[in-house]
Amino acid sequence: MRLYEMTAAELSRRLQSREVSSAEVVRSFLERIDEVDPYLRAFITRTPDLALKSAGEIDSRRMRGETLHPLAGVPIAVKDNISTLALRTTCASRILENYIPPFDATVVAALKKAGMPILGKTNLDEFAMGSSTENSAFFPTRNPWDPGRVPGGSSGGSVVAVATGMAPLALGSDTGGSIRQPASLCGVTGLRPTYGRVSRYGLVAFASSLDQIGTVSTTAFDGALLMNLIAGYDPLDSTSLPEEVPDYRAGLEPGLDKLRVGLIRYGRVDGFDPEVTEAVNKAASMLEEHGAKVGEVSLPLTDYGLSAYYLIAPSEASSNLGRYDGVRYGFCADGDSIEAMFSRTRGEGFGAEVKRRIMIGTYALSAGYYDAYYLKAMKVRTLIRRDYEKAFKKFDLLLGAASPTPAFKLGEKTEDPLQMYLSDVCNITDSLAGMPSLAVPGGFHSSGLPLGLQLTARPMQEKLLLKTGRFFEEQRAEYPLRPSLDFLEERGGDYEI
Ligand code: GLN
Repeated sequence: MRLYEMTAAELSRRLQSREVSSAEVVRSFLERIDEVDPYLRAFITRTPDLALKSAGEIDSRRMRGETLHPLAGVPIAVKDNISTLALRTTCASRILENYIPPFDATVVAALKKAGMPILGKTNLDEFAMGSSTENSAFFPTRNPWDPGRVPGGSSGGSVVAVATGMAPLALGSDTGGSIRQPASLCGVTGLRPTYGRVSRYGLVAFASSLDQIGTVSTTAFDGALLMNLIAGYDPLDSTSLPEEVPDYRAGLEPGLDKLRVGLIRYGRVDGFDPEVTEAVNKAASMLEEHGAKVGEVSLPLTDYGLSAYYLIAPSEASSNLGRYDGVRYGFCADGDSIEAMFSRTRGEGFGAEVKRRIMIGTYALSAGYYDAYYLKAMKVRTLIRRDYEKAFKKFDLLLGAASPTPAFKLGEKTEDPLQMYLSDVCNITDSLAGMPSLAVPGGFHSSGLPLGLQLTARPMQEKLLLKTGRFFEEQRAEYPLRPSLDFLEERGGDYEI
């Protein structure tokens, strides 16, 4: 097995026993990136020199006998909407194309402190608005299981990097599914922690009442390792929760006795692939066979989740994105007057989807419409949360799909924003309710594409999610799952992006 094929836990073990050096590990991933990334395009910015430099530093500290963090020397990829000091952070937008942050996000500072070399910054839908990574202003990322399909989004770059062994771990962000939906479309594990559990200081704001940083990994245990590092209170984030951080690795061994699982019965959802429903039912039976008690649960208000989300998220985005005026950040266009400069900067700097959301959001917040749209959506959100609270009186965990279909074709939904929004139907209500939620691989579609399960728990119950995720891994013959990438050879390096 090559180093780039190993889990973070395995790499950590070999580094700690000095069987390998961090420089060797990083080199293996960098070579893999050179081989695969020209075709799949997961990275906006690659940082090989920086990664090798920090690997060298960690190796010397280890040689000196210093006690290091378990993830010291294990490399990671970071979504390009998370600020990195002195390293370009674009949000896949023209408006921030040359923006170099003067500070590290709290999570990035934690990676550096632990000695994790950063391999680069990964592609996303512009400002994390989208479900396919096609809204990147630079280029789309491709699905490694079928390069004619999307990887999902918006954390498509992070997910593809992990799915193909270009990085053992990655950070993503999830506002309404941006970690879980792409994780399920590419066959990896993605955790959206409880709102407030991981600091968002330095995450470029999209919809502040929903945004959350989370983990992308090939196994639940690797997710736990990374959560141990990034979870916790941060005085720089006013929404950060003060609760103590558990050791997410401890107690992940299977044992589902008495676990009460609610199998979600979705309401009116068009276009749900029957094989997805089958995979979820099969997962429910697996849990039952191992001692869990499974019952059905309907969350009646989830039918309104999409409408509420697509008012709340654009409203908050329209306010957050007001700061990109050409004066304070990044790109600036010429204009005869200040007003002309603002308007040309925003007109040229933002892509179509971002503009659409700014317009919808501005409308929904405007005088006379605020009560009818934004306020109403927030009331629906409260009712959705109550649905969940009611469900969690009966169940410890909810089980559903992480996406209504497997990966769709590139270009299939770009002309129809509503179809694109509908692909988030499984993920949005957990976000609105503020619950932690995990996507784990749930088998394959008859087309050969991976399918994802989604597990949702009460606030702060990430451990229960990871434990159940691990249970599903142990039911599989082969783990981690890796796409074959046959197309690299077939095309003989001639693959057209
Ligand atoms: N797909 C959803 C959207 O377009 C969610 C994005 C996200 O979670 N960042 O808003």
